[in-house]
Amino acid sequence: MRLENKVALITGASSGIGKESALLFAKEGAKIVAVDVNDAEGEKTVAEIKTAGGEAVYTHADVSKAADCEAMVKTAEDQFGKLNVMFNNAGIMDSRDDNALVTEEDVWDLTMAINLKGVFLGCKYGIAAMLRAGGGSIINTASFVGLMGAATPQVAYTASKGGVIALSRELSVIHARENIRVNALCPGPLRTELLMKFLDTEAKKQKRLVHIPMGRFGEAKEMAQAALFLASDESSYTTGTEFVVDGGITSAYVTPE
Ligand code: NAD
Repeated sequence: MRLENKVALITGASSGIGKESALLFAKEGAKIVAVDVNDAEGEKTVAEIKTAGGEAVYTHADVSKAADCEAMVKTAEDQFGKLNVMFNNAGIMDSRDDNALVTEEDVWDLTMAINLKGVFLGCKYGIAAMLRAGGGSIINTASFVGLMGAATPQVAYTASKGGVIALSRELSVIHARENIRVNALCPGPLRTELLMKFLDTEAKKQKRLVHIPMGRFGEAKEMAQAALFLASDESSYTTGTEFVVDGGITSAYVTPE
């Protein structure tokens, strides 16, 4: 198994990428700390892991709060003795997020608090635990929109994801000689609740789809597979990357007919 004897903490584990990653990492032998604010769905993720014969615990944490992040990392160490993999994946996309003229300050602040400060706080407490464990792998979920301008304006979200990429890069350099790897996972547009709620009309979906060479949205399961590689020792020489898994969207100037 690819994550045998590893302890992995995953935020946003109640849904989408986080849930699929929790299920996959557990199947590959990791003990899972599933973190979210949606407790009912988070408990379901854990129940599914246990039914399949894996080990997991759910803990409530709002990643925008330092005390919650400190507590979730403590849960990993208390329950399973250490932390080897930290997947800072929780994020939001506010439907009021738009261009700079109309996006309200509260939308900016909330998006930054969860998507960027949440990743910083996860790293802050996660890295301390990894130093105690002798190293580890951190995966921070960014987005392809951190690398290019999006057709549908969402300035707060885009800025937050650009921040995640820059933060991950710098942390990877700082901790490279401490056996801690840090990579930013940059998914393309996915058929998860987060994006489908934002692209809530067929016209909006088509506006995004037209840019994807593969001609379809990605699946959360496909991101989980990429995260598994970054979490495992198979990626032992991979750090500081913008790990792009996007159906080709960032490579395309025009899409094929
Ligand atoms: P999702 O909405 O299915 O899952 C996100 C999870 O994060 C939810 O379970 C939610 O409850 C949780 N969450 C929200 N705020 C939280 C908080 N403050 N503290 C803890 N948990 C919180 O979305 P997803 O598509 O699986 O997205 C996961 C990550 O991938 C996000 O960071 C998102 O920005 C990123 N991403 C998504 C897409 C896409 O197209 N869906 C593309 C690129 C990047």
